[in-house]
Amino acid sequence: MQLQSFGAACTVTGSMHLLTLDMPGGQRRVLVDCGMFQGGDEMEARNHEPFPFDPAELDAVLLTHAHLDHIGRLPLLVSRGFRGEVHCTAPTAALAETVLLDSARLQTDGYRSDIRRARRQGHEDQVRPPLYEEADVHRTLALLRPHLTFGQTEKIAGVRVTPERAGHILGSAYLLLDTPDARLLMSGDLGNRESGLQLDFTPPPAVDAVVLETTYANRTHRPWAQTLEEFRDALRDSIRAGGKILIPSFAIERAQVILHTLKELMDSGEVPRIPVFMDSPMATRATNEYFEFGDELIPRVRDALQAGEDPFRPSTLHVVPTSAESQRLNKYDGPAIIMAGNGMMTGGRIQHHLKHHLWKPSTNLIIVSYQSPSSLGGRIVTGADTVRIMGEEIAVRAQVHTIGGFSAHADQDDLLAFLSTAGKPHVWLVHGETAVMDAFRPVLEAHGLKGDIVPDRQTVDLLGPGFPTGRPPGLVVEGSAEHAARVTGGE
Ligand SMILES: [Zn+2]
Repeated sequence: MQLQSFGAACTVTGSMHLLTLDMPGGQRRVLVDCGMFQGGDEMEARNHEPFPFDPAELDAVLLTHAHLDHIGRLPLLVSRGFRGEVHCTAPTAALAETVLLDSARLQTDGYRSDIRRARRQGHEDQVRPPLYEEADVHRTLALLRPHLTFGQTEKIAGVRVTPERAGHILGSAYLLLDTPDARLLMSGDLGNRESGLQLDFTPPPAVDAVVLETTYANRTHRPWAQTLEEFRDALRDSIRAGGKILIPSFAIERAQVILHTLKELMDSGEVPRIPVFMDSPMATRATNEYFEFGDELIPRVRDALQAGEDPFRPSTLHVVPTSAESQRLNKYDGPAIIMAGNGMMTGGRIQHHLKHHLWKPSTNLIIVSYQSPSSLGGRIVTGADTVRIMGEEIAVRAQVHTIGGFSAHADQDDLLAFLSTAGKPHVWLVHGETAVMDAFRPVLEAHGLKGDIVPDRQTVDLLGPGFPTGRPPGLVVEGSAEHAARVTGGE
């Protein structure tokens, strides 16, 4: 039972884990997630590297959930030769369509504008082409098998696979894999047990090894009730200021949590009813899937849906479909809440709202998601006086509120609670910064568990103590001479 992590090893994006499993009749190669690296040029350059294995030789791909950093390179895997099936839950398949089409569109649009600028400067050779286009996404969507159901075991490439609820976003699963030797748990991303919409993760059974995400393994989230109070107070203060209230939000999960919270706060009279503009077509599409798969959500939301209500629609909600209408919003007078993507403000419609309102003292910017330090949002949060937006220097005079407790990720307490039913597995740490994982290992030890950090791209024997380096036998790297010989030989 060997693992190589080619993404989300000692980092939090690009999740891609190759399992080589000894099964009767031979080894099986199963890829768990195929995510995109995000967060700055150096990280994103890794998306363009060849796969460290031949995509055509994989027996199957399993998806834990539809976030871009877990599925964003799937179309690339397909365009480079993968022809097998991609197994996931039905909500994950539905969200994957929205996420991958948006990703293809962003890449093609970004490429067009980058190449125009580069031509003017005479170095178009430095612009990287898009990883894939819409046609590649459609070829990928045709391979999705949305048959995984929580608690039900399926035989995939001869391996028994049981998905269980991970409680992170709609449709998110952790995966139990049974081989004749052992039972392995691949955690994917695990949810915050206090999230606004998702049911808690299902306590896992005893397993032999766990590959565990550790995004927030070194901290404890603020209690949910306190987060809601902070959000309510920020809204009240902002409404008093009389200007625009900007809420940058990620399209999946965060946008729906915020819409639902706004509805509850306005319906209960805790926050005055002012217009809410949802200015993100992707978030609007994703919200439709939350509506569609409402049975998966917490009882309060599920019951509202069954009673014919829309828990994601504050009575003052306006959906902004086109970018022309989005721009017309700049001329809208009076207080209003504008929700737009992307969550870190590095692109998307939020940028032109910031350009038009960030310099006004009456504007309030309410930040509800993580901001990486290098992002536009990160610079605003750390107190920049001015920021560059769409080629223009803009003064930061808006009030900035940061609400930290809306996280969709498990914190340290959640992770320990998760492990508490898993027996005495060897815990392999992924999907976290090295410092965070280093801090978490002694905590695991104090709970009687051995935790090791999965090294980037090296082979790990999940049941053994050591770190054998190199590749599992028979693994051919895409683009290598051996691979080229094999590919040409096969044609
Ligand atoms: Zn995720």
